[in-house]
Amino acid sequence: MSEMKSEAREYVPPVIKAEELDPKFKYKMSKIHGAEKVMVCFQCGTCTADCPIARFSEFYRPRRIARMVQLGLKDRLLLDKALWLCSSCFTCVDHCPQGVEIAGIVRVLRNMAAADKTLLPLVYKELATNLMKSGFVYEIPESRLQKRVEQGLPPLPKPNVKDVMKIFEVTGSAGLLEKVQTFAKVESK
Ligand code: SF4
Ligand code: SF4
Repeated sequence: MSEMKSEAREYVPPVIKAEELDPKFKYKMSKIHGAEKVMVCFQCGTCTADCPIARFSEFYRPRRIARMVQLGLKDRLLLDKALWLCSSCFTCVDHCPQGVEIAGIVRVLRNMAAADKTLLPLVYKELATNLMKSGFVYEIPESRLQKRVEQGLPPLPKPNVKDVMKIFEVTGSAGLLEKVQTFAKVESK
C-alpha cells in the first residue's frame, strides 16, 4: 500500500527583520488588564495544542502570538487578520500552566488593531453599527416581533438609543466606525 501523505501544511512565517522588533512592546502589554502575564509564557505549546481554532487552521497559533508579543513584533501582530479568528472560548486560559491569559492578550491586541491600524472584520463593524443605531446587536425583523406576540411573549424592552449613541461618541467608537477599514474573511496564507 502506498504511503499516505498529509496535505496539511504548517505555515512558516516570514523571516523576522531586526527593525521590526519593538523591545518596549512587551512592557506596554504587561501593564494592560488581561495581558499582564505575557512575559512568563515559556512556550510549552499547551494553548496551541488545546485551541479549537488552531485545530482547523494551519496558521492560527496562540503560542506564537505570545512569543510575538515577547519579541515586540507589534505591527505584524496588529495587521494579522488571523488575530480575529480567536473565538474567546478561554480553553487556553484554563489550561496554561503559567496562568497566561492568551484570550485576554488577543482582546488587547484586537483593541490596538482597531485603534492604531483602524482595521476590523466587516461583521464586527456591522454588529457595532447596529448596536449604536438601534440598541440591539442584531436587527430584529418585524416577522420575528410578530412571532413573539403570537407566542404570548412580552414585547422587547425599548433600548435607550440616545444613551447608547452617547457612549459610542464619548469613547470615540462612533468616529472609529466611520473610518475603519474592513475585511470580509481571513484568507489562508
Ligand atoms: S500554554 Fe501558557 S506557557 Fe504554554 S505556550 Fe501557551 S501561553 Fe505560553
Ligand atoms: S480563547 Fe482563542 S486562542 Fe484561546 S483556545 Fe479559545 S480560540 Fe484558542
